[in-house]
Amino acid sequence: MKEERIIRDEITCPRCGRVSAYVEVIKDRSIELLCLKRHLIKKVVFGKAEVELSYGEKRIKLKCLVDTGASRSVISKKLANELRCFLPLRKPYELGTAEKEGRLRIVGSCLLEGVVFQGAEVPGRILFEVAENLREDVDLVVGRPEIDAWDVIFTPKGPRPRRVPIKFEII
Ligand SMILES: [Zn+2]
Repeated sequence: MKEERIIRDEITCPRCGRVSAYVEVIKDRSIELLCLKRHLIKKVVFGKAEVELSYGEKRIKLKCLVDTGASRSVISKKLANELRCFLPLRKPYELGTAEKEGRLRIVGSCLLEGVVFQGAEVPGRILFEVAENLREDVDLVVGRPEIDAWDVIFTPKGPRPRRVPIKFEII
């Protein structure tokens, strides 16, 4: 994974004003946006995005959390049940989260094809871990593996795939 890359997009630096490109610096638990003179513009931990999930005939549109600190992508048990895609685990396990008290109880998984992220269809199937105790207001968390694989960039207007259509690259 590249740790730094230049994004050509308009952004406002608190010191330089309007600039036409910035540097995205990928850290363990966050992403920082710097101007080319390396002034900090924004530190991003979470973003919100539109997703569409489908399984069989069922299609659901929702807002998801894009979390640079999440080591897995996670779906709520409620939403997995609604989609009827829940595959139980024989041995549930606990997944740590960035939030201090947060430990998620993972009780199964869900393999979804045709996921649409910010209007872009993702090729192949995506594995989501099913958590029993996701926060009340969150039904889907897109975590680091997908942020990397889909080449998601964090722009002032929110996260989006760097290239549409999304293509996976062999490194
Ligand atoms: Zn600057």
